[in-house]
Amino acid sequence: MDGSLGVLPLTEPGPRSWQRSLADAVRDPAELVALLNLPAEFAARALDAARGFPLLVPRSYLERMVPGNPRDPLLLQVLPVDRECQPVDGFHEDAVGEGLSRIVPGLLRKYPGRALMIATGACAVHCRYCFRRHYPYGQEPRRLDEWEPAFAALEADDSIHEVLLSGGDPLVLNDARLEHLVARLESIRHLKRLRIHTRLPIVLPNRVTVELIDLLKRTRLQPWVVVHSNHAAEIAGDCANALRTLVEAGIPILNQAVLLRGVNDSVDALAELSEKLVDLGVLPYYLHQLDRVAGAAHFEVPIDRGVELIELVRRRLPGYAVARYVREIPGERCKTPLA
Ligand SMILES: *Cc1c(COP(=O)(O)O)cnc(C)c1O
Ligand code: SF4
Repeated sequence: MDGSLGVLPLTEPGPRSWQRSLADAVRDPAELVALLNLPAEFAARALDAARGFPLLVPRSYLERMVPGNPRDPLLLQVLPVDRECQPVDGFHEDAVGEGLSRIVPGLLRKYPGRALMIATGACAVHCRYCFRRHYPYGQEPRRLDEWEPAFAALEADDSIHEVLLSGGDPLVLNDARLEHLVARLESIRHLKRLRIHTRLPIVLPNRVTVELIDLLKRTRLQPWVVVHSNHAAEIAGDCANALRTLVEAGIPILNQAVLLRGVNDSVDALAELSEKLVDLGVLPYYLHQLDRVAGAAHFEVPIDRGVELIELVRRRLPGYAVARYVREIPGERCKTPLA
């Protein structure tokens, strides 16, 4: 992934700024393993996988892991493992056919009424199961003027009412860069909603600043923020505060999760995640079946098992707390419901 766009702030970041936290994230498997008191051989086994898709984990996320536990559900999401390098039938670099939906650089158009911008290739964490882990971010716009074909395509199609900022993680962009993107989108009359898909409130909660909330409150577009948490243990301390701050600002917040073997493939894990979210006012939106991306096969949970799990969650929780279990099928006009 490409960290050069937007990570550089316009002004010098203060000692507690999110830019500083991002710069200070752990990138060396040996350091991660030492900080968590795990055997050194874990670091050796991480090296090959980390070469293709480097380790990246902010310290605030690391602090929510339990030291000495090699099966920690947060650790499993970020620690490179040698199995990622073994090819598995049916798992591909472009798992969901995104190449076909890319109508101009930086813009994917798959579903009616909405379009998705690859706002940046950078993230604050590298999730090992990421379906865009092989995405050719290097071909996407970087300089502001390179975005003009995407804006022109949006302008030319008045059936599009919603733009999703995705990536990478759009909140890795600094406020000035975000402001520019949002201002340009606001000028397109038929756009009504701005959706931001981000994992930063979960993995780098100090990104949720007064200035960011201001930006989301000021735009004429209705903001929707979709965060990405997979496990209740992620939603603690600063992360819970960040979500509360967003909710209190009156911005609708949804969560999407990915069903991951060893991380959240139990009724207890899924129910606890939902309860943590709804207690904060965040609605569970999607539970995604893993996209079959090369390197992530060991995370796959069979769909039958997923259906069974979500049915058991449905018997335990109020209807609004149960995420829609879906999968992405290339060529379909919406996500395909599985339960
Ligand atoms: C998932 C996705 C969306 C959003 O789908 P919703 O069902 O509206 O959440 C939009 N565009 C692309 C390319 C997507 O992959
Ligand atoms: S934050 Fe999102 S885009 Fe970035 S690595 Fe994780 S899943 Fe992929």
